[in-house]
Amino acid sequence: MQTQRLRIAIQKKGRLSKECQELLKRCGVKFNMMGERLVVHCENMPIDLLLVRDDDIPGLIMDGVVDLGVIGENELEEVSLERLARNEPADYVKLRRLDFGGCRLSIAIDKDAEYKGPQDLKGKRIATTYPQLVKRYMDKQGVPFSACMLNGSVEVAPRAGLADAICDLVSTGATLEANGLKEVEVILRSKAVLIQRQGEFSADKLALIERLLTRMQGVIQAKESKYIMLHAPTDRLEQIKDLLPGAEDPTVMPLSKDKTKVAIHLVSAENLFWETMERLKELGASSILVLPIEKMME
Ligand code: ATP
Ligand code: MG
Repeated sequence: MQTQRLRIAIQKKGRLSKECQELLKRCGVKFNMMGERLVVHCENMPIDLLLVRDDDIPGLIMDGVVDLGVIGENELEEVSLERLARNEPADYVKLRRLDFGGCRLSIAIDKDAEYKGPQDLKGKRIATTYPQLVKRYMDKQGVPFSACMLNGSVEVAPRAGLADAICDLVSTGATLEANGLKEVEVILRSKAVLIQRQGEFSADKLALIERLLTRMQGVIQAKESKYIMLHAPTDRLEQIKDLLPGAEDPTVMPLSKDKTKVAIHLVSAENLFWETMERLKELGASSILVLPIEKMME
């Protein structure tokens, strides 16, 4: 059942929800997340947000029930494999990788156990929420194992005697350490992605998706970029430009009074580190400003 309004499924509550809402807001999508609603109507664009558990997002896309979704690659891949194994539709289009939700899916074992390679996992029981991804990895290594499916508290499984190893999401590794485990294999590196269902779209929806994508590009690029301004002695201009990240074609302007200096303005894809600022200063640069950029469009 297709609707006129673009339907986007996002995680209701969890590690992806805050940044996902923030991204949409920065793209100019206005909405109000009040109460326990499943569907939130956007005020200024023909968009409905569907607030669901992240587990449901890949399926909603693959069944063509929603148009777009934001989901971690780990969950997306796991559901794809699961559906393929059951002969259910598992198609989707990955529109772009986003700049949040970064983590890795790793195998961890007792921190004191010896480990030389995947062969050491032979015949072991691995507790995980991602049995399909673990199986794909272990099959590729040619190592037989048994899986223990757990939807939560995976990291306590070895201590509780439920499993010999675990395969779980890790970002800092602090949880593993707190549970006496060590990370031995990374089987997937994941980030949040924007996905689209397969099939036909009306021209209006296509245009709206295109617009959202351009805006997302602008928001993500802006977050990674800085606007740099400084005054440089005219006779050291080239040396100073060499120090600035991505300064192929900066704007160079005269100052109103001091003719020995010029103002340089540029957008840099990188931050300007303190060390570089100190070297610029040594070369006679002054009034060095590094500003965040809110939006950009090329
Ligand atoms: P839901 O209630 O929606 O099912 P959940 O408990 O399954 O939520 P979260 O813990 O909110 O899921 O994590 C959502 C996603 O965030 C993960 O699937 C993963 O892609 C990403 N993520 C980023 N860092 C981490 C991390 N350190 N641990 C777990 N997930 C992480
Ligand atoms: Mg979940």
